[in-house]
Amino acid sequence: MTSNHIYLDHGASTPVRAEVLDAMKPYWLEFYGNPSSVHTFGREANRGLELARDTFAEHLNTNPDEIVFTGCGSESDNLAIRGVMQAARSSNKGNHLITCITEHKAVLETARQMRDSFGFDLTILPVDKFGRISLEELKKTIRNDTVLISVMAANNEVGTLQPIFEIGEIARREGVLFHTDAIQAAATYEWNMQEMPVDLLSLAAHKFYGPKGIGVLYVRRNVDLESTLTGGGQEDGRRSGTVNVPFAVGAAEAFRLAVNGRKIDLEHYRGLRNRLIKGVQEVVPEDCMLTGHPDDRLDHNASFAFRNVSGNDLLMHLDMKGISASSGSACLTGDPQPSQVLRSLGLDHEWSGGGLRLTVGHQNSDEDVEYVLEVLPEIVENLRELNQLQMRHAS
Ligand SMILES: *Cc1c(COP(=O)(O)O)cnc(C)c1O
Repeated sequence: MTSNHIYLDHGASTPVRAEVLDAMKPYWLEFYGNPSSVHTFGREANRGLELARDTFAEHLNTNPDEIVFTGCGSESDNLAIRGVMQAARSSNKGNHLITCITEHKAVLETARQMRDSFGFDLTILPVDKFGRISLEELKKTIRNDTVLISVMAANNEVGTLQPIFEIGEIARREGVLFHTDAIQAAATYEWNMQEMPVDLLSLAAHKFYGPKGIGVLYVRRNVDLESTLTGGGQEDGRRSGTVNVPFAVGAAEAFRLAVNGRKIDLEHYRGLRNRLIKGVQEVVPEDCMLTGHPDDRLDHNASFAFRNVSGNDLLMHLDMKGISASSGSACLTGDPQPSQVLRSLGLDHEWSGGGLRLTVGHQNSDEDVEYVLEVLPEIVENLRELNQLQMRHAS
């Protein structure tokens, strides 16, 4: 049924690679023990889990004890923020958290809850029209009691890369910890943690051709982290609960493949993305803009806003033509609210309801892109006519 459909929503999730599935399989069928058990089955499962941890450590150029497996990308973000802020409070090291307005909700809502329900001080930095924070403003915001800066490596809706190297340097100089949600950017950088000024890093396997429902949080050795999921003390006391061993094994295999194929993959994505960015603006020359940064953006992300077009209708009509795309964040699908991220970039209501995100992946080809460019103009034109009719009726 989906064989002739074109999937352009890799920012929401990716297919699991065949190699990943193969790597996971024995951990359901043969090595199914609890990795905490001392018997043979337990030791075999634990071996798989620790090999998975080693693989992440190797490809992040860091130590295995700095890798924590979690239940998803959102949980990694939650653990980073809650864990660091709670630990700081427990040892009287500060109460202030800094984040940014275009963060994924896993960060933004966690930060807001820390403020509203737990009395932490929170600064939410604005962004410029490309979606970047100002480093000057960040510097001015840092206080004596600032504990943590959480700014994403790349935005999931508009693809903008934040200046994380510079943010990390500022954090270092000021003695503040730096967490980055790198869930969209797993393949964007080499993530050599010996050189990156990053203390905590969130990843999610289903964004790089691994299974859904497993995340990783890298936690630098000297970082105090209070566990938020308490119990049996797994993951070195940082995240209780039996780790999903097959998923950890699959996540590691997916990460290994992503790192090894990085250069070739990124070149492939970039070619398709550039054609989409140029092509969409050519076939819809009026009232269509590229959103996010024109150059410093994710290699797989082409995102746009169309004036006076409903993003949800646009998605529905694309879907009827066999194209699966997104209006931005998958969490917002079906939500009639205009995009908060697009509003943060300064787009007014005529634009912010008409977001379209096309995120390319391994299987996409030039033909897929050309097909999108072929069907898009008519869809946009029809929706605009409809919009005009509705406006006339309303007035
Ligand atoms: C997908 C995503 C998340 C959430 O990850 P889940 O595994 O779906 O919980 C968080 N941040 C960003 C930037 C994402 O793209």
